[in-house]
Amino acid sequence: MEIKITKATALKEKPDSSTLGFGKIFTDHMFMMDWNSEKGWYNARIVPFENLSIHPASTVFHYGSEIFEGLKAYRRKDGKVQLFRPIENIRRMNNSAERLCLPQIPEDIAMDVLTKFVELEQDWTPSAEGTSLYLRPFMFGNDESLGVHAVHNATYVIIASPVGSYYAEGINPVKIMIEDEDVRAVRGGTGYAKCGGNYAASNRAGERAAKQGYAQVLWLDGVERKYIEEVGAMNVMFMINDEIVTPMLSGSILPGITRKSCIEVLKDKGFKVSERLLSVDELGEALKNGTLKEAWGCGTAAVVSPIGELCYKGTKYAINNGVIGEVTQMLYDTLTGIQWGKIADTYGWTMEI
Ligand SMILES: *Cc1c(COP(=O)(O)O)cnc(C)c1O
Repeated sequence: MEIKITKATALKEKPDSSTLGFGKIFTDHMFMMDWNSEKGWYNARIVPFENLSIHPASTVFHYGSEIFEGLKAYRRKDGKVQLFRPIENIRRMNNSAERLCLPQIPEDIAMDVLTKFVELEQDWTPSAEGTSLYLRPFMFGNDESLGVHAVHNATYVIIASPVGSYYAEGINPVKIMIEDEDVRAVRGGTGYAKCGGNYAASNRAGERAAKQGYAQVLWLDGVERKYIEEVGAMNVMFMINDEIVTPMLSGSILPGITRKSCIEVLKDKGFKVSERLLSVDELGEALKNGTLKEAWGCGTAAVVSPIGELCYKGTKYAINNGVIGEVTQMLYDTLTGIQWGKIADTYGWTMEI
C-alpha cells in the first residue's frame, strides 16, 4: 500500500530517559488510514502528530466502536531496533475488529504500515535500561450519523510514545484485590477483544481497589463469580506446588501475547503448565496451606509483575513473603533478554526494523 508521507516541519527535542513515564510524550508523526465499506482501506498517510478532527456525531463517541493494540520497539545494544511478535498483535487486532464489527486489515498491509511507521520514528526508541518505544495502534468507527448499525466508515491510527522503565525502582511485587462485585466480561461478550469499552467498565473496581492501597484488581468470571480470569491489563499465572496454572482462554479473557510467550518458555524449560479453570476457593486453599509458591501477572507493559499480596473479601494473603519468586524472575530475564536482544532469540519472535 502506498503511504503518503508529510514530514513535520520541525522535529521535537527527544526527552531525557529518566523523565519518560508511560504514554505522556509522543513522537513527531503518526500513521493514519481510512476505511469505507465501498472503497475499503484508503488514504494511508504519515502526518505530523496532531489533534484529530472528528465529527461530534461520530460512532466512536456514542456507541464505543473502538479497539486498540499495544506493543513495543526495543533498542538493542548494537543500536538496531526490533519488535516482539508484531504479527500476533496484528492477528489479535483483526479478531477484535471482527467482534466489534470494525473492518479487518490484511495482515501484510498491517505489518507493512506498522514497520514503515516505526522505521520513520525509530530515532525515538530510547536506549536506557528498560526503556522502549511503545506503539499504540487503534481503530474506531467513524460514521457521521447517530444511527445504530455496523459502521460504514472507520479510521485506523498508530501513535508512538517513548516509555520509561516499568521497574525504575527495581521489581517490586504488587498488591492485588480480588474483585467480587463488578465483573469485566462474560463469555459471548467482548472480553477477548482489546477494546476500550472493557476498560471503561473496569474503572470503578480499579478505583475502589486503589483507595484501599491495591495496584489492580483480579477479576472473577462474570457468571458464577467463582473462577479466576485476569488482572486489569495483565493475564495471571500461579505456581501451585509444581504446577503452573493460568486461566484457560474461555472467551472472556484477553489472549495476551506475553501470556502465550510465558507458556512457551515455561514448557520449553520443562515446567508443567495447565490452562484450566482455577476457582477462587482452590486459590484460597493454596494460599492457606502454603502450596501457592508464586503468582505473577503478565503483559507487554511490565512483562511480568510479581504479585506479593492478594486480598479477598477483606482477608489478606502474602505470597512468597512479598518478594519475587525464582520462576517469575526466570521469565522476566528470558523475555526481556529476547526483547532487548541480550540473549539469542531461539523462537524467532523478534523482527528487526
Ligand atoms: C493487553 C491486555 C493484556 C496483555 O496482553 P499482552 O499482549 O501480553 O500485552 C491482558 N489483559 C488485558 C485486559 C489487556 O488489555
